[in-house]
Amino acid sequence: MSLPIVLIIDDPAPLINVYWWHAAESQATENPTLVSGEAIVRDVPVDFLRHFVDVIDRHGIKGKFSVLPYPAGLGAITDGWPGCDQGDLNTWLDLVRQRVTPSMDISPEILTHAKTLDLDNLTLLSENEREWSRHQTAATMTPYIAYALKILNAADLEANGVTSPWDFGIDVEDEYRMAIRDAMREVNGRTKTWYFLHTQNKETTFRSRVVHNAGDSWQVSLCSQVGDQLWTTMDSRETGVDFINSVADAYLSEDGSSGRLAELYRAGTPIIWCTHWQSLFSNGRMTGLRALDEISRRIDALWGTTVTWMKCSELAAIIASNDTGEQIS
Ligand SMILES: [Zn+2]
Repeated sequence: MSLPIVLIIDDPAPLINVYWWHAAESQATENPTLVSGEAIVRDVPVDFLRHFVDVIDRHGIKGKFSVLPYPAGLGAITDGWPGCDQGDLNTWLDLVRQRVTPSMDISPEILTHAKTLDLDNLTLLSENEREWSRHQTAATMTPYIAYALKILNAADLEANGVTSPWDFGIDVEDEYRMAIRDAMREVNGRTKTWYFLHTQNKETTFRSRVVHNAGDSWQVSLCSQVGDQLWTTMDSRETGVDFINSVADAYLSEDGSSGRLAELYRAGTPIIWCTHWQSLFSNGRMTGLRALDEISRRIDALWGTTVTWMKCSELAAIIASNDTGEQIS
């Protein structure tokens, strides 16, 4: 069997750059800046999504694409928010439905990926979702996750797994897993599910695993083993080909001899690779997306059919079937 490869895209939301909100919170300012001193771009034009789908189509890239159901606490994607261009919002959602879902699973990255939403009155709590998760139980997280899944369903973007904003749930992981299973069963009638929380970017031993397996129900924890080198494109104003190639080299050199993807490929370890919407957007320069295009071209040229792009749900099913000793189809 050829080696599975999965691309995980964290943090996409319609029209906004959620990283602006993260930096505004951590820097306690309405004018957040990058390490370079450059102002962080707050909005992401719909055209960027068009460029992204062109790249995934060109190379047959598959994996997972988060859609924040209630981005930055501004409002549900089904309703929009003050100042939001409804036409652009609809165009963005249509593009995701038509051109992203054929190759990528959709997942929530819980509701806001910012301050926690109080479900009783839809106001924001002072804690962000990461901090809030640390003192929750399955009983309090289940409705929170369920609400995220319901918003995605209302947008016709059904999720089959969950992405953790930051390290959401890491201190209460057993409860968090249970909450994901309960919400997924309750809202989507799904008993086979996966979630993404962990990363391990040094070792080549495969770290994704089955965390629950009972009857026809399973849950897989997917672990990304490729660090997000594209993140650095936010902090560099360089846009030349040499720069793009140097970013690509950290993943896979032109001759295939070095880079993190090459390490995993040589070890025969299925490749789960996480990047971020803001890493591809590169504060408007799209250099991260160009690097993704180049890396994927190299993967094609060097490895051809010895690797197979797949969605998170497809790889999770293989991991689960191996766990029960069933045949992999
Ligand atoms: Zn995230």
